Amino acid sequence: MRKKVALAGLVLLPFLLAAVGYGAQRLAEFAFGQSITYPGPSVEGAAPGPPTTPVAQRVVVVVVDALRDDTSRQMPALERLRQAGADLPSYTGMPSLSLPGYTTLGTGAYPDLSGVLTNWYENPVRVDSLFAQARQAGRRTALVTMSSWETLYGPWVDYVWVASWPEEHDLSQVAQTTEDLGREALRVLREEEVSLLYVHLGETDEVGHAFGGTSPEYLEAAQHVDAQVARIADELDWSRDTLILTADHGMTAGRRTYGGGHGGYEEVCRRVPVVMVGRGIAPGTYPEGGQADIVPTIATLLGLPIPAHNQGHTRLDLLVLDPQGRAEAALALAEQQSSLYRAYLRTLGAADQVDGLTEARAALAGGEYDRAVEQAQEFLDRLDRAVERAESNRLWQERLARLPYLLVPLLLGGLALALWRPRGEIVRPALLALLFFALYLALYAGVRGFTWSFSTIGGLDEEAFFLARTTDAIGVLLLVAVVAGLVWWNRPWKEVIWRSEQTVLVVLWALAVQAGLYLWLYGLFIRWRPPHLGWGFKFYLDMLVLVGVGYAGLLFPWLARGVSRVVRFLKGRRRHTA
Ligand SMILES: [Zn+2]
Repeated sequence: MRKKVALAGLVLLPFLLAAVGYGAQRLAEFAFGQSITYPGPSVEGAAPGPPTTPVAQRVVVVVVDALRDDTSRQMPALERLRQAGADLPSYTGMPSLSLPGYTTLGTGAYPDLSGVLTNWYENPVRVDSLFAQARQAGRRTALVTMSSWETLYGPWVDYVWVASWPEEHDLSQVAQTTEDLGREALRVLREEEVSLLYVHLGETDEVGHAFGGTSPEYLEAAQHVDAQVARIADELDWSRDTLILTADHGMTAGRRTYGGGHGGYEEVCRRVPVVMVGRGIAPGTYPEGGQADIVPTIATLLGLPIPAHNQGHTRLDLLVLDPQGRAEAALALAEQQSSLYRAYLRTLGAADQVDGLTEARAALAGGEYDRAVEQAQEFLDRLDRAVERAESNRLWQERLARLPYLLVPLLLGGLALALWRPRGEIVRPALLALLFFALYLALYAGVRGFTWSFSTIGGLDEEAFFLARTTDAIGVLLLVAVVAGLVWWNRPWKEVIWRSEQTVLVVLWALAVQAGLYLWLYGLFIRWRPPHLGWGFKFYLDMLVLVGVGYAGLLFPWLARGVSRVVRFLKGRRRHTA
């Protein structure tokens, strides 16, 4: 009986392994593609807020790509502006990547809602933006930029100037581009009648990726940017203009052989500086905010309707407003958020009734301005809680439906264990499988110094990185095959083959359980909310490991057998000579 099972395994296992390798590859590609094409949840019917009384005539937003908060404090011109204005740290959404950040900074929508989840997004934004609202209101806007801003916002911007991205890592060329961008920004401020100008400077990102976010080169890039910030600030009239400087994300320090990265959840990637100065801004140091807060704050400064998909909160604490203006601004945000989240709650299948807005409206109409602000704030808190509840309910409903993803591999494992005879035979294959994971982990985290964060890829060639995860898995599995040959050197060859196959099956099973856990928690299809990105990244890497295990698993038994034969041969010879 056991011989028949072994023979069947010998014939069937190669097919199974090849199928697993191929299937894992497809699954990895599918999961990756999902994050690029994710459309965001449906929020049809979300409307912009009502217009308010303008505070400033012109707002200039300088986005310094990948500027760390700590480095921003070593920029002399920016430090002077910070002393004269509002200073607060801000946190990006996830992932801390460029296009998701550009989108949040122009729309107030985080990646989950905007659907701009990666840097491979290649279309105009699908959500409402400040540019669209300005156009609607007949106000002119301009973009002076180094990259994808034109793709995201081009259809709604009146004047766009794009500097070509310089040859990679050519420091003098990239510094020249920063100067060109500064010069063009000045020209726009002098000659174009715009209400809103975004200037995007990419030098710090370029240099940070090449040398790391704590390198002297990166600091020097920040100084180049600082010189242009000084020129722009000198051109502005603080009695009518407001300047806002921030970053799309930060940058890691980088490692020995390559530069920095971002995209993950590290504090240095998510924490970015915000400096606001000029018309309508009360100087001071303020508590941290979210990256999305900038958009409704700009809308309030310019008196524009808050974009329909904004998720940020207007920073009323740092704006100079009279009581009526403050109450109007608070209500404008409450109206916009009410419209957005009612649509969202309907999408989640929850009741969209949240009380309190009527009372806030009545207070504003009755001239009770402080009370209106208070009530609007309370309404927003209630709304946040309702949304959180609805998201959690929906998530756990879906998890209930997805339970088989986790239960099937667990039950199969339990069944195999129950049927295993003799029971003790499972110990060595299980230990060898454990050795595989320990060695792979040591190689990934210990030797290579990687983590399960998207920032790990920054400064590296992505395709090479992903391919190396599969080849690492192949190398480690074949190393374990050699160990298996040493362990079973004195066993008959069929047994070596059969035990080796068991070892590979245990590895496959352990990977299936990990994948099952991820798929149970987050699902294969990204519909209304992306997965936790750390887990998503690990799932993707696990699939690449599975590809390697599938293909190298074909060789494992024969390598183990070869090694066992060699050991037996050598031992036999020693016995002869002795
Ligand atoms: Zn960036």
